Amino acid sequence: MAKILSGREVSARIKDELKGEVSELKKQGIFAGLAVIIVGDDPASRVYVNNKKKACEELGIYSEEYALSGETSEEELIGLIERLNKDDSISGILVQLPLPKHISEKRILESINPQKDVDAFHPINVGKIMTGDYDFVPCTPAGIMELIKESGVSVSGKDCVVIGRSNIVGKPMSMLLLHQNGTVTVCHSRTNNLKEKAKNADILVVAIGKPKFVTGDMIKEGAVVIDVGINRLEDKKLVGDVDFEGAEKVAGAITPVPGGVGPMTIAMLMKNTVKAAIINRTEKKI
Ligand code: NAD
Repeated sequence: MAKILSGREVSARIKDELKGEVSELKKQGIFAGLAVIIVGDDPASRVYVNNKKKACEELGIYSEEYALSGETSEEELIGLIERLNKDDSISGILVQLPLPKHISEKRILESINPQKDVDAFHPINVGKIMTGDYDFVPCTPAGIMELIKESGVSVSGKDCVVIGRSNIVGKPMSMLLLHQNGTVTVCHSRTNNLKEKAKNADILVVAIGKPKFVTGDMIKEGAVVIDVGINRLEDKKLVGDVDFEGAEKVAGAITPVPGGVGPMTIAMLMKNTVKAAIINRTEKKI
């Protein structure tokens, strides 16, 4: 049976460490503060934003929420971001995606000060991830690296296969594995012989958004399997992109869904916010 890589446990540990760091920083006059902007009333986005606010409260991080109507214009949103860019009590700015169709995601992400870009989606931060000289790592891939560390398997020299090539998960994930000397193959919807490629992986990261897509017969004996997918079935049950029951019989270590990658994403957002506070030397809100 595979070792279960519990994101709940690892994230609790990381948040505990961060809590201590936040309070130490306050003694030095540095106050972490996160501004979260949500536009419209997407229920999933609402849940994510609430979880982020809750994590800030737990850690003693100041947070502000801007819940804007779905009718908000691009200019209004940019105006708010520019104000927060200049606000000395705000270390990090996060715009919850997706945005309504009439707003350009690209323009919005580019308007965030890269030093306050705790999601690491600004092109400057994306570029820094390519070169390996980065301050902020996108939260989900950063959390996955922590879970791989938890498995006890070193990435160096391993065959790593990432299924999915999104800008948020797949692409930055492949870079982080490469920086740790993994031999990386990125697979996607047009990949030929996917099963054969997946089965070659010592470390397999799956981020495609298709329930139970990766089955036990696609996994190498003893592999580390990271399931990023979050899919809600008709009976409301949450499942990943990996068929957990089949996979855990073959894998050496595996993440559950829920309780695997999800909680790590928020912990890494908190980590980026604390880092941003140090970079920006954020002051107390008055
Ligand atoms: P996306 O929809 O942007 O991209 C999906 C990727 O999967 C694409 O690159 C596509 O080429 C690939 N793909 C689709 N069908 C495929 C197939 N049949 N074979 C191989 N590749 C295929 O996805 P995303 O934003 O990276 O999200 C992926 C999943 O991860 C979703 O379920 C999402 O909800 C979840 N997610 C979870 C977290 C978390 O914190 N746990 C964070 C981000 C995304």
